[in-house]
Order: sequence, then C-alpha cells, then structure tokens
Amino acid sequence: MEDVKINREFSERQPQDKEWLAQNTWCDFCKKADLGIEKPTEFELNGKIYLSGFCSKCGNEIKSEIIE
Ligand SMILES: [Zn+2]
Repeated sequence: MEDVKINREFSERQPQDKEWLAQNTWCDFCKKADLGIEKPTEFELNGKIYLSGFCSKCGNEIKSEIIE
C-alpha cells in the first residue's frame, strides 16, 4: 500500500495546543522525552497525525505521533 501523506497547518492550532505539542516530544537520538521541538510541521500519514521538526537539544530531525 502506498503512503498517503496530507500536510496540516500546525500554525493554525490554538496557542496552548501548540505550546503543549512543542514541549511533549520524544527524541530517538537523545533517548529523552520533552526536550522540545524547533520548526514544527504537522502532517497526516496513513490516517495518523504526526508532528515533525528538530530536537531543541541535539538538532536532529524528530517525529512524534499526535494522539487526540
Ligand atoms: Zn535530541
């Protein structure tokens, strides 16, 4: 099955949502949660919503699923 990716507007979320989502992250490189995310972008992939961006600590690209 081919991946279905739909871009979403992270910037249109409520300020408190953005703040919460940008703080509640997981970094595979640091192996730590809640380090923060830089330049967040939101998209939907195969029916799941993700937030991707760059770890505030190490700068590597990270991706977290958003559970709503
Ligand atoms: Zn990191």
